[in-house]
Amino acid sequence: MTVPRIQLNDGHSIPQLGFGVFKVDPKETERIVADALEVGYRHLDTARIYGNEEGVGRAIAASGIPREQLYVTTKLWNDDQGTASVHEAFDASLERLGLEYVDLYLIHWPSPARDRYVETWHAFEELRGSGRVRSIGVSNFLVPHLERLLGESDVVPAVDQIELHPAHQQPATAAFAEEHGIAIEAWGPLGQGKYPLFELPEIAGAAAAHGKSPAQVVIRWHLQRGHILFPKSSTRARMAENFDVFDFELGEPEMNAITALEREGRVSAHPDEVN
Ligand code: NAD
Repeated sequence: MTVPRIQLNDGHSIPQLGFGVFKVDPKETERIVADALEVGYRHLDTARIYGNEEGVGRAIAASGIPREQLYVTTKLWNDDQGTASVHEAFDASLERLGLEYVDLYLIHWPSPARDRYVETWHAFEELRGSGRVRSIGVSNFLVPHLERLLGESDVVPAVDQIELHPAHQQPATAAFAEEHGIAIEAWGPLGQGKYPLFELPEIAGAAAAHGKSPAQVVIRWHLQRGHILFPKSSTRARMAENFDVFDFELGEPEMNAITALEREGRVSAHPDEVN
């Protein structure tokens, strides 16, 4: 299966559907990522704070898949923000992953209380210049954080990775990103299993109509909205289910009904409160 790619503002492109490893036990990561690669995923999303970069790296090495066929993202944790620590933190992530470069490196949270995301971004620009990072971006940045970054740098983030699912679509951030050529990555795309999306009649009904599961309908909604996403599952059957979404299409009424489910239903912390 060829996954569509999204063109980024820096000339690179990213597979629109990938596999995320938040809360994947480090002891199980190698096996779970190996399963995901066998299922067909080629885009992996990890972070220093997940504690499982080594497992991701081991699975990549054991897979034998040529590096250029893979897309790997990792993220800088908040306590590594600042000019002095970014390079060291990046080197350590790269070493844990066992890679010579990552495709995408993200500032994990703006952490406005630290007031360091602008200097951190300038260090990211240097990293990109070194060739060990193809693209740089941000995560959990809302409009005020993006406005400040754009005001103090000439490099526009390639992506903003934000909590986004039918009950929490962040329309203001998504519109700002679109206007400035920043691709949206949707984390918690299935509501992390915390928001009862799958039981909503708009989603369950579309699933029944297409002979697909509610999770597949939500993933399809994201794809048709143009989001990049990487749902997580530790179960191989669900990994395969979440990847089997390219043989049907939601009609406009179905898309509109799901888009109308916006409830400001955030399942995680507000970005201004994460330090
Ligand atoms: P998700 O929305 O992908 O939900 C994952 C949960 O949904 C699973 O644990 C499982 O319980 C359930 N699920 C998965 N497939 C299913 C299926 N087919 N049927 C029924 N239930 C299913 O949530 P997530 O893992 O938090 O988000 C995806 C990825 O986004 C993460 O793994 C991580 O890579 C990234 N992420 C980033 C941030 C950030 O701050 N940047 C925060 C959270 C997650």
